[in-house]
Amino acid sequence: MFEGLREKLTKAFKSLSGKGKISEKNVQDAIKIVKLSLLEADVNYKVVKSFIDDVKNKALGEDVLSSLTPDQMFIKILKDELIKLMGEKTPINLVHSPSFIMLVGLQGSGKTTTAAKLANLLKKKGKNPILIAADTYRPAAIDQLVTLGKQINIPVITGDRKNPIKIVETALKEIKDSGYNVAILDTAGRLHIDEEMMKELEQIKSLVNPDEVLMVVDAMAGQDAVNSAKIFDERLNVTGFVITKMDGDARGGVILSIRYVTNKPVKFIGVGEKIDEFEEFFPDRIANRILG
Ligand code: GDP
Repeated sequence: MFEGLREKLTKAFKSLSGKGKISEKNVQDAIKIVKLSLLEADVNYKVVKSFIDDVKNKALGEDVLSSLTPDQMFIKILKDELIKLMGEKTPINLVHSPSFIMLVGLQGSGKTTTAAKLANLLKKKGKNPILIAADTYRPAAIDQLVTLGKQINIPVITGDRKNPIKIVETALKEIKDSGYNVAILDTAGRLHIDEEMMKELEQIKSLVNPDEVLMVVDAMAGQDAVNSAKIFDERLNVTGFVITKMDGDARGGVILSIRYVTNKPVKFIGVGEKIDEFEEFFPDRIANRILG
């Protein structure tokens, strides 16, 4: 995770170490390396600009210049600013019983896998979850969720398998007074954003009145994913994001841009294909992984 970005940022710290007294020019040069590293990591350019302005303000202060370990101080500044960029840790907020978590996102982003991973995590935390398979668009998505549900011993409602609205209506009836206290709803994506998908999702959202609408976003899709996130949020007012495939992401562009661009928090990350390769999102842990 983040190998490419980490390697480049390390050059910036190294340029400040073992020099004895450092000059303002040395710091400026290190900041330039950071800026290029972030741009090459596919971080949104507005995000890079704001980040670099903040780092500059802090790093050009006397403290860094007169420090015996300017490289360490520089790392600390970067870490604090990365954490600020990714925002506060925001847990999921389930108020109703049963509560509903609606997963949305493009096809292939990892929605179905995430539905099972999230159900499994909530079960471990003492919840009694149930899954609803309403991805009628991607062939095999429903069977995939049924198989995953069996693996983790969590029931899956499949309804009539053709009409997502009907599936959701059936599920609402089945879940009411059933003892399941959280339902995770997998919905249909498309390869690209289209109006039919958005209308369907809006309709489902108003039927279900979910506690959380989480958009599942593929880290490997870079700024395209961030642009899609903005559009999904404008239409569906999402409550947060799940960033998947972080394990294969050497650059970090999505996780470092999405909060700033949408002003909505990342709540979970997917770090592998296996059911338990799924974590709550802690900005400080990500910053530590990026800075090595
Ligand atoms: P959907 O079309 O959005 O429902 O996507 P799927 O859940 O079928 O996932 C698409 C592919 O991404 C599958 O091969 C998953 O195993 C894989 N996948 C999902 N999440 C992760 C993750 O966090 N890491 C990795 N490496 N693969 C993932």
